[in-house]
Amino acid sequence: MIRYGQQDITQDDIDAVVAVLKSVNLTQGPAIAQFEQSVVSRTGAKHAMAVSNATAALHIACLALDLGPGDWLWTTPNTFVASANCALYCGAQVDFVDIDPHTYNLCPHKLEEKLIQAQKASKLPKVVVPVHLTGQPCDMAAIHALGQKYGFNIIEDASHAIGGQYKGEPIGNGRYSDITVFSFHPVKIITTGEGGMALTNSDELATRLGLLRSHGITRDPALMYEPMHGPWYYQQVALGFNYRMTDMQAALGVSQMTRLVDYVQRRHDIAHRYSELLADLPLTLPWQHPDSYSAYHLYVIRLHLDNISVTHREVFEALRAKDIMVNLHYIPVHTQPFYQQMGFKQGDFPQAEQYYREAISIPMHINLTDEELQFVSNSLREVMSL
Ligand SMILES: *Cc1c(COP(=O)(O)O)cnc(C)c1O
Repeated sequence: MIRYGQQDITQDDIDAVVAVLKSVNLTQGPAIAQFEQSVVSRTGAKHAMAVSNATAALHIACLALDLGPGDWLWTTPNTFVASANCALYCGAQVDFVDIDPHTYNLCPHKLEEKLIQAQKASKLPKVVVPVHLTGQPCDMAAIHALGQKYGFNIIEDASHAIGGQYKGEPIGNGRYSDITVFSFHPVKIITTGEGGMALTNSDELATRLGLLRSHGITRDPALMYEPMHGPWYYQQVALGFNYRMTDMQAALGVSQMTRLVDYVQRRHDIAHRYSELLADLPLTLPWQHPDSYSAYHLYVIRLHLDNISVTHREVFEALRAKDIMVNLHYIPVHTQPFYQQMGFKQGDFPQAEQYYREAISIPMHINLTDEELQFVSNSLREVMSL
């Protein structure tokens, strides 16, 4: 079976996790700060908060930016549901901005049109969440400029994108956003089993994120409302959660981070090989914006359905029948029953819906062999000429 995504675990990774298991601290120990530091030094962000998963990171990112009832969060429909759900956790409302047909990312022109309308209706968003789909960065300079003009905050959902770059700088450095979120789920670029991180350059946001991650509790006298009662003392100064990562996970993250650059390079090599193998098929291959160095979490092909005699679903099922575990990223969030109950409907975001009718994520992970890449490509060729 060839999976669409898969983790890479080395003996060094295993040794790092076992070392924590033999140590005193299974959680709230030194590995967390080490992992955060390794991501800080790789991205250039000032602060990083490791948390239990990226969904938790998105939740506390929204709360740290004071998103709440009466507020709007806008994101792309072409994403995992978590990018939108985080607004609802905070009692805020969600709306979407359709995608760019080339990058499949949130389209800055459509964003601007929608902002102009929203301004007239006094319904401007408080937070916009661009998602770097497949690891290719959004047009962050344009989105940031609109943020300045219309006064919204930006959370980059970079769940696909650690190790990628935008305009020659690491994704996560926060040049164009308030907070950036990474996911370390096993299918993503690096893994901690479950895990996520929120990065920011703001001291104030970092303090809030830190409180929200752990019950709203502090042991820092500078954050307390009255003097310490004694060495045992802590204060709850906000309503937080237990969104902490364990030290076993963080140690795995530290070990995985040492291979991040190689991982992304390998993913580029695979993408390059696919582009050779698939060049003559009736497909749209991933187009790369010149500002982008993608992390290549996914390799998405789009079928030219007018030029083949099989349906999207038939191609998908025929590949799965060959044990090629293709996938589809994503079902447009606004068409999910839960979102349709909120009033969204088919037809609201036509580019995302058109993409959904044609897209397939073919296998992309660092341990794919050249035989496997050829098998995927030959299978596609065979299946599409039926
Ligand atoms: C994976 C993913 C998430 C959620 O990540 P978890 O770590 O599983 O919570 C959020 N957004 C996007 C775009 C993702 O791909």
